Amino acid sequence: MSETIDGESVAADVRADVAECVETLREEGVVPGLATVLMKADPASETYVSMKQRDCEEVGIEGIHVEIDADAPAEELYETIDDLNERDDVHGILVQMPVPDHVNKRKVLRRIAPEKDVDGFHPENVGRLVAGDARFKPCTPHGIQKLLAAYDVETAGADAVVVGRSDIVGKPMANLLLQKAPQGNATVTVCHSRTENLAEKTRNADVVVAAAGIPEFIDGDMIAEGATVIDVGINRVEVEGEGDETELVGDVDYESAKGVAGKITPVPGGVGPMTRAMLLYNTVKAAGEQGGVDVELP
Ligand code: NAD
Repeated sequence: MSETIDGESVAADVRADVAECVETLREEGVVPGLATVLMKADPASETYVSMKQRDCEEVGIEGIHVEIDADAPAEELYETIDDLNERDDVHGILVQMPVPDHVNKRKVLRRIAPEKDVDGFHPENVGRLVAGDARFKPCTPHGIQKLLAAYDVETAGADAVVVGRSDIVGKPMANLLLQKAPQGNATVTVCHSRTENLAEKTRNADVVVAAAGIPEFIDGDMIAEGATVIDVGINRVEVEGEGDETELVGDVDYESAKGVAGKITPVPGGVGPMTRAMLLYNTVKAAGEQGGVDVELP
């Protein structure tokens, strides 16, 4: 049987470290603040934003939430970002994606001050990550690195396959695994929608990171015996024979993979909690840097 990688428990450790740093910052007169901005109020985005606000509260970070009408002009969002960039009590800014169609997402990401860009999506921060000088590592791949470290997964010299090439998961994950740094030094293959013979690639991997957003499409046959499998996918599917009832599943067919993989993350309870925890981590890092206080984040 595979060892289950417990994201809830590693995330709790990260939150405890973050809470300690928050205390240090507060003692030095810096109250870390994270601003969330929501423009397109679909139910999933609303849930994500309120979870992020709740997480902040739990570790002592001040949450500032701004909502903008979905049909307001794009300029209103840009001006909101400008205001938040100027505020001393705001150290991190997160604009919840997706934004409405009339708003240019790239412009939004460029508008956020790079030192407050706790998602790590501003081109300056993307560049720094690629150059091996990351300021903020994007939360999901950063969280995955923490899981690999917590479970002693050796990536140096390993063959790693990342399935998915999005800007928020696949690309930064591949870059981090490639870096000459801890939880890096892997030989990385990035697969995507135009990849041929995917199974051939995943079967040869010591580490598979699945982030395609396709329910349970990587099964036990596509994985090498003993490989580490990190399932990023969050897919809501109908439960067979249960009418309208739905459940969350990953991109990996957990039932068939769990007997083959050496270590595997469940969905839910694997990568998801880590993504949330790393946002708090980045916010505290931002507050320390902006407030001129040394915080020791592991
Ligand atoms: P995305 O839709 O932006 O990207 C999906 C990627 O998968 C694309 O690069 C595409 O080329 C690739 N792909 C599509 N079909 C493929 C195929 N048949 N074979 C190989 N690659 C294929 O998605 P995303 O934002 O990167 O998210 C991916 C999944 O991870 C989603 O389910 C999302 O909900 C989830 N997610 C989870 C977390 C978390 O914290 N656990 C965070 C972000 C995203």
